[in-house]
Amino acid sequence: MEFELIDAIRMRVNIRRDDVALGVGDDAAVLDVPAGRQLVACADTLVAGVHFPLDTAPEDLGWKSLAVNLSDLAAMGAEPAWALLALTLPEPDAFLVAAFAEGFAELARAHDVALVGGDTTQGPLSITVTAFGVVPVGGALRRGGARAGDAVFVTGTLGDAAGALRQLQDGVAPAERLRAKLSRPEPRIAAGLALRGIASACIDVSDGLLADLGHACVASGVGAELDADALPMSSALTAAFDRATCRDLALAGGDDYELCFTAPAARQTEVAAALAQAGCSATRIGRIVAGSGVRALDAAGNPIAPGRAGWEHFAT
Ligand code: ADP
Ligand code: MG
Repeated sequence: MEFELIDAIRMRVNIRRDDVALGVGDDAAVLDVPAGRQLVACADTLVAGVHFPLDTAPEDLGWKSLAVNLSDLAAMGAEPAWALLALTLPEPDAFLVAAFAEGFAELARAHDVALVGGDTTQGPLSITVTAFGVVPVGGALRRGGARAGDAVFVTGTLGDAAGALRQLQDGVAPAERLRAKLSRPEPRIAAGLALRGIASACIDVSDGLLADLGHACVASGVGAELDADALPMSSALTAAFDRATCRDLALAGGDDYELCFTAPAARQTEVAAALAQAGCSATRIGRIVAGSGVRALDAAGNPIAPGRAGWEHFAT
């Protein structure tokens, strides 16, 4: 049965790449890393009931399990190439596996990612994807390069996925745009590639802007000030929630899978041009300062009172 499931996955996720010397079927995959490139590797696990609601469509789960990993590669400025899939299933459910593989394949195809192996086991539903990409030697974007005076940017819009999740929990049907951001996040691969050589630091926003920018600040040994009124929000979000809730969702909601990055303020035009070329928008949302901690400021420059989401402990 295990092998029928593996075949079902392999049949559907059949992206071929010349740099796969040996794919699914042996004890391990053999991959050709091009000369002059470094391998970039990451893994993320999604556990049922923890990282996704139990009634999530398996197609969406397949997409998202790869998307969260490609988002990590995007944040490194890496070009995705290969993935491993470790699936733990309560039962050998062929329908679930087929649907899961379809969703996974859709995103894998879009970014030319070959599935080169994995593991299939029985247990509580859990999915671990390991993704690999490549960067020119020394070219990876990192969290630790932000300097006082740099401008802080974020791609796309914030809070949409968290808004959708909150509405679902409240028994409200979210607008399509919000639902799509929750179930089918688009990893910002092109933006990450475009930011190589421009961004001083970069991180993907998965746990909420304040938390993730906080990680980049710690790694860089700096602090940050955010202009709350500058946070990019979709009209779908602002139509669904009051202003304060939107701000909370944008600052602290998770699952955005946008890139938050810094660059010298003088390079703002270059940033805008590079991202426009990558077909991605970015908004300047604040600045890097000496010290530590991330503070969100109102239009008058006063720190914003903690919101419902309870993110106050990120300010110092
Ligand atoms: P082993 O017992 O040597 O670990 P398995 O029987 O688990 O090998 O797997 C057989 C082959 O199928 C291996 O090449 C493995 O990488 C691949 N594989 C197993 N599960 C998956 C999966 N969920 N997705 C893709 N490839 C898989
Ligand atoms: Mg095995």
